[in-house]
Amino acid sequence: MPSSKDFPRAPSTGIRVVIVGAGFAGLTAAIECTRKGHSVIVLEQFKEFKVLGDIISLQPNAGRILARWPGMTEQLYPICHVGKHLKFKSYKGEELFTQDLDNEKIFGKKYSGHRGEIHQIVWKYANELGIDIRLRQTISEYFETDEEAGVISNGVRHVGDVVLAADGVRSKGRTKVLGFEDRPQKSGYAIYRAWLDSTEIRKNPLTRYMVENGDTFNAWVGPDKHFLATSVKDGKDFSWVCTHTDDADIKESWQQPGNIQDALDILEGWDPVVRAIVSATPSCIDWKLVYRDPLPTWISTKARIALIGDAAHPFLPTATQGASQAMEDGCTLAVCFELAGKRHIPEAVRAYEKIRYDRVRAAQKTGEDTRKNWHKSNHDTLVEKPDDMRKLKLNKEDWLLAHDAQAHAYQVFPEVCAKLAAGEKRGEDIAGLEKDDLVANVPNSMAETVVV
Ligand SMILES: Cc1cc2nc3c(=O)[nH]c(=O)nc-3n(C[C@H](O)[C@H](O)[C@H](O)COP(=O)(O)OP(=O)(O)OC[C@H]3O[C@@H](n4cnc5c(N)ncnc54)[C@H](O)[C@@H]3O)c2cc1C
Repeated sequence: MPSSKDFPRAPSTGIRVVIVGAGFAGLTAAIECTRKGHSVIVLEQFKEFKVLGDIISLQPNAGRILARWPGMTEQLYPICHVGKHLKFKSYKGEELFTQDLDNEKIFGKKYSGHRGEIHQIVWKYANELGIDIRLRQTISEYFETDEEAGVISNGVRHVGDVVLAADGVRSKGRTKVLGFEDRPQKSGYAIYRAWLDSTEIRKNPLTRYMVENGDTFNAWVGPDKHFLATSVKDGKDFSWVCTHTDDADIKESWQQPGNIQDALDILEGWDPVVRAIVSATPSCIDWKLVYRDPLPTWISTKARIALIGDAAHPFLPTATQGASQAMEDGCTLAVCFELAGKRHIPEAVRAYEKIRYDRVRAAQKTGEDTRKNWHKSNHDTLVEKPDDMRKLKLNKEDWLLAHDAQAHAYQVFPEVCAKLAAGEKRGEDIAGLEKDDLVANVPNSMAETVVV
């Protein structure tokens, strides 16, 4: 079986990358930079690794990145959801339609499972590669000069050619890049979320069908609310999320306990199956969804500090793209550094932003559209209107799922640099990089597309 021992590494480029945060953005950037021959240090504030969170989805555009890490697919597949359909019902329990999600042959593998368990596998993999990941690192300051960039952590300066701030939604790196603190606003929504062992779900004849014959994925849509239920590991584990309107609080936390009775109260009048699921749940998380306007830029003045992942662009869960886009960021940057070379890091960072910005914004919008379709349809007439029902479909965009971030970066980097050099830009003028130099730099692997 392939493993991290088979991981391919390019010869050293001499590029030193300091990464803050060891979530999916930080770890992917670290692994991809290692693959491309850059040297990496990752600084994470947690004191120890913990399996945290509940359901997360890595779509085929992320699966394509994971497929280049020998042994990763084999480790992830057994712990992830393997259902082939998404069944939609109205909030009252009327069957609407079934969406075929068996698109792996077209787009490649995807992984939905426990965020902490998937994260643990990627974390261990990075460790097996010998990546220098340091825990208990609280970053107090970011700095950059024309020649280098770094951070101060627990009083120690860590200096590299570039800093990647992968420090999540409450990013300190973002404050450095923007020059002010980007405070979140109320979104008007919150999500009750839970992950549980399926024993109680299996006992109840109302809910048993969701766990007894393998994995299932079910969605209920209603006025300003939706409820998603997923079984995982051949029905052994179960997860549900309930998005609803909530104006109460804007604290962003993945660990804020919720109240099961409160969840039941907001689901008054809903399908008894939904209520039975919630009643069978020992505890849940109350995650307040906050809103941030798209940032004007993801990169610092001297273009030696870049925001990646949630620090740059938080996602609505209805996009199912937050982690996948975070991974695309890291993959793209590793290619940009390779093509630009150590002497041209700011050009690489500017190219990264230009390559990624519009795609990420378009991906974010899919989450807004999906939530609108789920919450604002005329739910009482949906069953009679197939065209309205079809709008409920999830994860259907080819441009999003078929994307290969690595191949794309190789392909567009020269053109993007040329455009930046010609003044079509975000940030400062590009100096010293000729288009012809860059074309010559594009390796043969540019056309590589992994079929998973
Ligand atoms: C504890 C936790 C639980 C989550 N659970 C879920 C879930 O159940 N479902 C879901 O869809 N998404 C979940 N997410 C969010 C999801 O992981 C991200 O939306 C997505 O994967 C993008 O990842 P990211 O690496 O950009 O951000 P994150 O996953 O948030 O990672 C950011 C990392 O940076 C670290 N960090 C932050 N500030 C500093 C600092 N100053 N110094 C050093 N390190 C710092 C954090 O500790 C964290 O490890 C969770 C995130 C966290 C942190």
